[in-house]
Amino acid sequence: MLHGVVVKAYNGFYYVQSEKLLLSCKVRGRFKKERFTLMVGDEVRCSLTGHNEGLIEEILPRRSLLRRPTVANVDQVVITFAAANPDISTTLVDKLLVLAESSHLSALLCINKSDLADSEELSRIITIYAAIGYPVLLTSVKTGQGMAELRQRLIGRVTAFAGPSGAGKSSLLNAVEPGLTLVTGEVSAKIGRGRHTTRYAQLLPLSGGGFVVDTPGFSATEFTELDPACLGLCFPEIAGLAGGCKFSTCLHDREPQCAVKDAVQTRDVELSRYESYKAILQELRDTKKGY
Ligand code: GDP
Ligand code: ZN
Repeated sequence: MLHGVVVKAYNGFYYVQSEKLLLSCKVRGRFKKERFTLMVGDEVRCSLTGHNEGLIEEILPRRSLLRRPTVANVDQVVITFAAANPDISTTLVDKLLVLAESSHLSALLCINKSDLADSEELSRIITIYAAIGYPVLLTSVKTGQGMAELRQRLIGRVTAFAGPSGAGKSSLLNAVEPGLTLVTGEVSAKIGRGRHTTRYAQLLPLSGGGFVVDTPGFSATEFTELDPACLGLCFPEIAGLAGGCKFSTCLHDREPQCAVKDAVQTRDVELSRYESYKAILQELRDTKKGY
């Protein structure tokens, strides 16, 4: 039996990467139900039935599930922004962090185009996110800064990139492993298969081990499934303080005796983070009644 990862699903075939072998597989008949839930990223065991052909015999338990694109077992999201051109929006950084947190994925922040950076503004942003526990990587495809560390962080993991178009996601990936490029929003729109590219993501194997999802991860417009009461849990520094609020149901908005608002006053919680929290809370309230 070979152990592998489903890297692509197409026309009833599942392409399973097992070490250096790429097998085109069918699913064993008795897996009637699983067949419909099997997805890219799933780890499987399969038997060889011919030259580069196999039969999926067992689907191993799933560790995580990313939606849009739908990929199982993603380990981490590299939230990628450019130091300049386009400028960083901390609101968008925070929204993408919330999406990663709410999917229980670990996140790291990659600030690319460091060669174009205004170092003062940049160190302010790095400080904000490093202080609340997110690894921050400063990279430049142009000068090579940070590339070795990025490469290191991808080894043996399944990684999705996320971030605005133009940040350099495709360029970064191509620098990590020449020949690999992401199917970006613009490209998929141009060739008129935007929906398909998000529905049928593929995993790209890295030569050092590990995989990258070929379409950028979630976009920041998909908060509808998040309960407003859970939003605070997606901000590590807010989650850590919520126990000190007078009301256990405190949403840290208009409630009195709120430990989070106190911490914003004393600057123990960064104002931009709290403002992102409130902006997202408002979005969630707009889509859900009763809050
Ligand atoms: P994506 O939309 O996030 O995939 O971004 P791309 O990889 O397509 O990059 C957008 C543009 O930024 C391209 O013109 C790249 O050549 C450029 N670019 C990417 N990385 C860097 C970098 O580190 N420094 C500079 N100066 N330009 C970069
Ligand atoms: Zn509170």
